[in-house]
Amino acid sequence: SGQDRSRGVHAFLHVNREEALAVAAEVDGVRAAGGSEAESLHPLAGVPIAVKDLIVTVGQPTTAASKMLEGWMSPYDATVVERIRAAKLPILGKTNLDEFAMGSSTEHSAFGDTRNPWDLDRIPGGSGGGSAAAVAAFMAPLALGTDTGGSIRQPGAVTGTVGAKPTYGAVSRYGVIAMASSLDQVGPVTRTVADAAALQELIGGHDPKDSTSLPEPLDGLLEAARNGELKGLRIGIVSELQGEGYQEGVLARFQESVQILEDAGAEVVEVSCPHFGYALGAYYLIMPSEVSSNLAKFDGVRFGNRVVPDGGGTIEQVMGTTRAAGFGDEVKRRIILGTYALSAGYYDAYYGSAQKVRTLIQRDLEAAFGQVDVLVSPTSPVTAFPLGEKLDDPLAMYLNDVATIPANLAGIPGISVPAGLSEGLPVGIQFLAPARGDATMYRAAAALE
Ligand code: GLN
Repeated sequence: SGQDRSRGVHAFLHVNREEALAVAAEVDGVRAAGGSEAESLHPLAGVPIAVKDLIVTVGQPTTAASKMLEGWMSPYDATVVERIRAAKLPILGKTNLDEFAMGSSTEHSAFGDTRNPWDLDRIPGGSGGGSAAAVAAFMAPLALGTDTGGSIRQPGAVTGTVGAKPTYGAVSRYGVIAMASSLDQVGPVTRTVADAAALQELIGGHDPKDSTSLPEPLDGLLEAARNGELKGLRIGIVSELQGEGYQEGVLARFQESVQILEDAGAEVVEVSCPHFGYALGAYYLIMPSEVSSNLAKFDGVRFGNRVVPDGGGTIEQVMGTTRAAGFGDEVKRRIILGTYALSAGYYDAYYGSAQKVRTLIQRDLEAAFGQVDVLVSPTSPVTAFPLGEKLDDPLAMYLNDVATIPANLAGIPGISVPAGLSEGLPVGIQFLAPARGDATMYRAAAALE
């Protein structure tokens, strides 16, 4: 049962019991009274939702799973939270993540691991392992995640849930603690493709508080997810996102999924994205560069829990002890990498080259979408691995992101949907669509359910 599966998972950092029950009771009251107020309720009113603890909320702590922000209460709500409250979805609480969303296993949380409900000795993916585990264990039917390099889609894949990263700018980033601003997007974690589409419609649309927000909302997502018609749809298999490094069982489920799509009437061809082999390298320069800049404000003076050296010290020393004590190893590793990549003398060689690769990857995708409507690949090269297996090997951890990163570098939408099991563990299939093609992505993904 769902209850048994939720035991020992540790999906939540904070549970919002009283407020969630009050909102649920309020919706019940409105429904029972009937009339125009009941009719004007949002279709998702009363459906509980879990929120990744990188997204700020009034009345509940926001920690980013970091000691730096332990106990911090935001004075304002993120735009996505405002929209959830306006539609009267009870917020169950805040879910665990890798510190500041950096990781692929949720083991980098400062407040303990989250476990995969399918096997408590395995990771739930990351960084949004808490949101994915909460949905997989039937603790919440809906959750919010954030995806900078795959943190919605990879946890979705390894927990057997649906996770979507919308087109960059489709959902407001206002009130989402920034990791790498040119890559970050908020998106839904759910049990079905239709739920994901409905939730994206609710949280999406223009926000004047986010300067990268798209001017027009992306419409017709739920309709597309309910349609699921594949006749005439051209689907491309990315040659570079299969083969070496991908588990046999993952590839087997992937091939079966492609067959299902073909049988449903899609036209399937193989396409090449020749620069995808450089995506991981480019991401692990661009992302830490933006991280080093975005996290500079956590110095104990402007933001973050201040730690003063024994016997006091200068302001620089206070900032030093604050950052030494407040950040974990993975966060420090990325700040150092980013500071190095951006430093005078190295900027052109590292950051400059990575930006050129980013353009080449965008061109690969433009060319591919000239031939096909959507692309498919495995979401993650491997299924959920045992806790601790990759914790001391950052490169092995980063390799989990090979298939998810291109979407962030290009700003296009991507979704992971469950595609069966391999040795008892969930496998996810990823669909990618052109920018603003979220409806097409949901339509294709729905065909696999
Ligand atoms: N695993 C990726 C990383 O560690 C993804 C992070 C994310 O999407 N927030 O950077």
